[in-house]
Amino acid sequence: MSSRRQRSVKIVATLGPASNSYEMISKLYHAGADVFRLNMSHGAHDEIKERYEHIRKLEKETGRPIAILADLQGPKLRVGQFEGEAFDLIEGEKFRFDLDDKIGTSTRVQLPHPEIFQALEVGSSLLVNDGKIRLRVEKCDKVSADCIVEVGGEISNRKGVNVPDVVLPLAALSEKDLKDLEFVAELGVDWIALSFVQRPEDMIEARKLVNGRAAVLAKIEKPAAVAALQSIIDVSDGIMVARGDLGVELPVHAVPPIQKRIVRACRAAGKPVIVATQMMESMITSPVPTRAEVSDVAQAIYEGADAVMLSAESAAGDYPIEAVSTMNNVAIEVENDTNYRGIIEASRTPSRNGVADAITVAAREIAETTQVCAIVTFSQSGTTAQLASRERPSVPIIAVTHIKETARKLVLSWGLHCVYVDKTVTRFKEAVLLSIQIAHDHEFGTKEDNIVLTAGVPFNTSGSTNILRVAPLDESKVYGAMLDN
Ligand code: PGA
Ligand code: MN
Repeated sequence: MSSRRQRSVKIVATLGPASNSYEMISKLYHAGADVFRLNMSHGAHDEIKERYEHIRKLEKETGRPIAILADLQGPKLRVGQFEGEAFDLIEGEKFRFDLDDKIGTSTRVQLPHPEIFQALEVGSSLLVNDGKIRLRVEKCDKVSADCIVEVGGEISNRKGVNVPDVVLPLAALSEKDLKDLEFVAELGVDWIALSFVQRPEDMIEARKLVNGRAAVLAKIEKPAAVAALQSIIDVSDGIMVARGDLGVELPVHAVPPIQKRIVRACRAAGKPVIVATQMMESMITSPVPTRAEVSDVAQAIYEGADAVMLSAESAAGDYPIEAVSTMNNVAIEVENDTNYRGIIEASRTPSRNGVADAITVAAREIAETTQVCAIVTFSQSGTTAQLASRERPSVPIIAVTHIKETARKLVLSWGLHCVYVDKTVTRFKEAVLLSIQIAHDHEFGTKEDNIVLTAGVPFNTSGSTNILRVAPLDESKVYGAMLDN
């Protein structure tokens, strides 16, 4: 019944050709994947639907909620086509981008995005092919940009372009994104991620379109998004540190401090944050990661990130299961390190004012000073559970809800063991008994332990956390002492 994880941090595994079958998805789940990411940059809608249905079937089989994150491609910029397909750009030479759809040559190519030319200025950088080629604008107008090659390399058909220095007047969602968004929202995914977010308005627009059908997550991969970080967090339900494109748009050495800044800001806001990209990159072709990769995963966990993510490692690598189980092992090891609690506590942001926060802090303190095996939260929207997660307590948090979508969404958050119950709780007595039963069934403690309960009462009306109760797991004591009060 239980299959509870032995760690608080969550693991996100991207699905792809290496992991699309029901059998593989199930193996990844049992190896430790909590959240599955559907990358909308690859795969037709019927393939996405098939993966979605495999995950929901697995959910039924395991009796455990699983979160599904659909990642929209975003306004990915690309050059046009070349005569003979590829050319070498040489440092110091000139190269031109324009709107002309004539086939590209060694001196020019189409860049079919008028918005770029509107935003470029003399001195702006253009990066091609994951930042491998760098050009600087010397002269530009509304239809073309004459550049000088600063770092050369091979340019070929449809290679990606990054324009880090300017905020592009681009719609947050491309035509493809709009179609994909509608498709995955209707399908019933739990999280929808937006790529290349530039400003808070991008998230506000996406949220309107999603219209409550899923939670929305902002991928921070543009310098403009880093600059507007707090206002983007304010209008998002979750955040991803998308280190791949971030390390193209900014120097790679700028990424670690930005990662720390984003993780801290999200922890302070009480919103889940995923650290993503290249975490176990070498495991695409090797059954063991490099020591540096293990250290990188560990570092994100010591920072208190909600989740660590696998991309190609689980989607297209030779060792998807090993990649998940290695992450799982690293997480367990880190969280059992005697230094871990101290590091997490030192980076905790002070608690906020208000009853809900004060009760949640009290729950954590009780859990730290008495024999408590879990904090149990009851919530509808998930707010009470997320508040508990924000505290990063030393014991697991059981997030009980009668809303399936809430249980699934909360899976991404640090420390939450989500439990969906198919009945609504109306009286506090029922909540106490149900908590005890769940704690037993999911193997959280023994009769000597206590649980701490937090909830918003009355139940089933939205409102904030206003009650805390300590209950022994020994039911006989509960009956005798406290039920009818
Ligand atoms: P991607 O996003 O894998 O969709 O590009 C993550 C990143 O850029 O790190
Ligand atoms: Mn990206």
